[in-house]
Amino acid sequence: MNKVVAPDDLQFDDDGPLYVAHKKVYPQSISGTFRQIKWGLMAFCLGVYYLLPFVRWNRGLGAPSQAVLIDFPNRRFYFFFIELWPQEVYYFTGLLILAAMTLFLMNALGGRIWCGYLCPQTVWTDLFYAVERFFEGDRRERIRADAAPMTAGRAARRVSKHVAWLLIAWWTGGAWVLYFDDAPTLVKNLATFQAPAIAYIWIGILTATTYVLAGYMREQVCVYMCPWPRIQAALTDEWALNVTYKYDRGEPRCSAKKAIDLRSIGELAGDCVDCFQCVAVCPTGIDIRDGAQLGCIQCGLCIDACDNVMRKLGRETRLIGYDNDINVKRRLAGLKEVFKPIRARTVVYACLIAAVCGVMLYALLTRTLLDVNVLHDRNPVAVKLSDGSIRNGYTLRFLNKRGFDRVVSLEVDGPSGAQIHVIGADSVVPDRPMIVLGRDTTTEMRVLVTAPFDEKAEKTVPVKFRVTDIGLGEVASAADHFVTP
Ligand code: SF4
Ligand code: SF4
Repeated sequence: MNKVVAPDDLQFDDDGPLYVAHKKVYPQSISGTFRQIKWGLMAFCLGVYYLLPFVRWNRGLGAPSQAVLIDFPNRRFYFFFIELWPQEVYYFTGLLILAAMTLFLMNALGGRIWCGYLCPQTVWTDLFYAVERFFEGDRRERIRADAAPMTAGRAARRVSKHVAWLLIAWWTGGAWVLYFDDAPTLVKNLATFQAPAIAYIWIGILTATTYVLAGYMREQVCVYMCPWPRIQAALTDEWALNVTYKYDRGEPRCSAKKAIDLRSIGELAGDCVDCFQCVAVCPTGIDIRDGAQLGCIQCGLCIDACDNVMRKLGRETRLIGYDNDINVKRRLAGLKEVFKPIRARTVVYACLIAAVCGVMLYALLTRTLLDVNVLHDRNPVAVKLSDGSIRNGYTLRFLNKRGFDRVVSLEVDGPSGAQIHVIGADSVVPDRPMIVLGRDTTTEMRVLVTAPFDEKAEKTVPVKFRVTDIGLGEVASAADHFVTP
């Protein structure tokens, strides 16, 4: 009786050469559940990327009306109702941590979900393949055409394909720069050649990279250039579900007719009919039946291909499916399949995601729109005045994140008898100078704190500056030290 051979047990004559010339991949089009999911996600991702800069958001008079804007000249990041300042860089840190944890969780649950469905390289390569098929036909036509001498008709189709690719690449680069300025205005300026040179340079760079990476490099980016496959291999575990060929069911592979013959005499025959449809549709050109491979981006298209074959043969689908080696081995041993989406690793990732989201949400909800930072003078740290009192100098930076001007008062808590003087500000109430802060801006001021000399006092005492919005009552504070020489 034939024996089921696991991919790990396959014997190879040698390890092969160290260098193998690139073999062009001609993925065949396919229909099915995973293809539908991929089309849907592609439409969503590209739609968001290309159209988001044109979405408007009313922030009041004088403020940018673009929903998502990276405003470098004014050092602001706008995301709908959120406006972040450079001082709030920790939100970006939180976002990066969140992105990493989400990636880890996806990986622990379903393998390279990011690679197969969401990565820009996958999305644009998929789009470029669709364009290629539109102009040059499906797999067979393209293989045949590449092997035959060039004709005028084929040359025209090929030129059209490259023009379409370049247009997509150019639009991709164009959409990128729209995130950095008011999109409708920038489009007008770009069209009339009045946009800044840097915009044209970036469009050029992104047009070239999109064209080369999605049109030519394709699967080579995933296999050779991207570090994520290596990293995720270290992050995954044996319970993660990956696109897997169920060799317990598929082997020994043989034609449908031979399978009937073998089964009729009680011999073992697998469900795989060795039709190579799973290989033909694979965008990286690999054979999933050889087991887990770095080249597999887990796009699920081989599942669709094999399901179609199985349906035609009247056999159960999902000979290739989301599975893991544990279950393959359990089925071989006659045991029931086990799925463990909830395990220590996924729980930890989920908790970390919830914690980071919670902290970020709390920080956003309690975010102050008035802030102050303080910097003590370094040279001299302190000055002894002719009357014996001690003076320390500070630079205070006030942040008014509101869209209107406001008046704030400044007070100081520190050494006893301390007096405050803000250079360039009036003090209506003694020791409570009033400062006008422009809307949505940072204001820097020199502040002098003077205190009588007290030989019993500590050499360094804490000092706290408190800023109060006269109208709204908002308060912000910053701490430093008062030094006695
Ligand atoms: S083997 Fe299957 S899942 Fe992996 S890249 Fe190829 S088609 Fe996609
Ligand atoms: S598509 Fe299915 S039946 Fe055909 S070779 Fe691949 S695994 Fe075997």
